[in-house]
Amino acid sequence: MATPLTAAAMLTALKAEGLTVHEHEGWRTHNRDAATGKSFGPVIGVLIHHTAGHGDKEICFNGRSDLPGPLCHAWLGKTAGLWMIGNGRANHAGLVDLDVIQALIAEKSPLPHDDQANADGNDCLYGLEIENLGNGKDPYPAAQYRQAVLWAAALCRAHGWTERSIAGHKEVQPGKIDPSFDMDIFRADVKKQLTSKPGGTPTPAPTPSTPRVDLSRLIQAAKTDPGARQGHQTYMAGVNLVEAALVKEGLLGKTYAGDGSFGTTTIAAYAAWQRRCGYTGKAADGIPGRASLERLGKRHHFNVTP
Ligand SMILES: [Zn+2]
Repeated sequence: MATPLTAAAMLTALKAEGLTVHEHEGWRTHNRDAATGKSFGPVIGVLIHHTAGHGDKEICFNGRSDLPGPLCHAWLGKTAGLWMIGNGRANHAGLVDLDVIQALIAEKSPLPHDDQANADGNDCLYGLEIENLGNGKDPYPAAQYRQAVLWAAALCRAHGWTERSIAGHKEVQPGKIDPSFDMDIFRADVKKQLTSKPGGTPTPAPTPSTPRVDLSRLIQAAKTDPGARQGHQTYMAGVNLVEAALVKEGLLGKTYAGDGSFGTTTIAAYAAWQRRCGYTGKAADGIPGRASLERLGKRHHFNVTP
């Protein structure tokens, strides 16, 4: 637990780590503290995100219609460098798992599974948004990845934290899939940086990892969502991946995809996929099975777990 860095101290720490820092106009006073009546801090760690888009620096500053900015403390462009976006409370983490927060405070490793959304992550975490489509194929250029490592290392060094104070959004909030690289590799790279002098030697970026769909959670969604209120989301991230694949197969209309809800239309589309796989009758009831899901994942770039 620590007092958040002032804007000046933040810039000093980032530059000392070897980063070139760009400042978005107004970032020093851009935060959600006054609007929410909740002040930022004490801080306990840093959170890594991918933006799931491109050219989204201004979105991260201004926010979206449903979520006011700032959406992070810093935005890291694919080629545009590191930009300061907010100073204070920012809308990047949302509700996160308290067990994971406590593990970050205690710097415990490995982090516990994030299965609850019962703590305010915007209170206590610095957030970096990395410009990347997040589809598991969009690469992180080595120079961009290097800057992400330096950003996290600078904050850890400034607060006397180890790399175990770092998490990915996918590790703290159920349903999140960002960032699309391995956080253990990222933490190891930050550790290497922390044991070297600021500026240290560059490390190559890990390849984006293939997104995963948890079969049991998907089945639960297919059994729960149709009977629940319209748009009910049991397993948003996995359902979105499966719906996108069904759209590409021509089995689901685009307007029904992307809401994260495995509703009756998705059930019908998945049943059509099962029939295409050769299943009939009860075996083509629209509730995903392992073989049909693995076949869909092979064609549309996701893995099936466990
Ligand atoms: Zn995120």
